Amino acid sequence: MPKLFAHRSDRAQPPLCPFCRREIPRPQELDGLWFEFDGGLCRCGAHFAVDPTARNGGAVLMQVLVQSCGGDWDAALELGPDDYRVGYIHKYDSFHHRVGGLAFGTIYLVRPRSSPD
Ligand SMILES: [Zn+2]
Repeated sequence: MPKLFAHRSDRAQPPLCPFCRREIPRPQELDGLWFEFDGGLCRCGAHFAVDPTARNGGAVLMQVLVQSCGGDWDAALELGPDDYRVGYIHKYDSFHHRVGGLAFGTIYLVRPRSSPD
């Protein structure tokens, strides 16, 4: 068994933003009403949040859209598909802040189209 765990950590990678390829910061508890999932902000302007169970997809994506609107749910609901791009980081291990192996969390990222490249 210990060999399995060693193998797993060998394969783990830092989580990289799909938009700018930089490592994203470790997700934090977010201030604000209704923010159920840990999340954060990449330096490129992409907001993100973590679904640690891989079962909350729609709710996590909705939260990230609200984050990208500065916490304004009404503004988030008015966003159209052309207003933002969505990215994903699969197999996220939120305990080690690494990607790969047997981890099954998913990070959802939203980057407003108005963000500079
Ligand atoms: Zn980024």
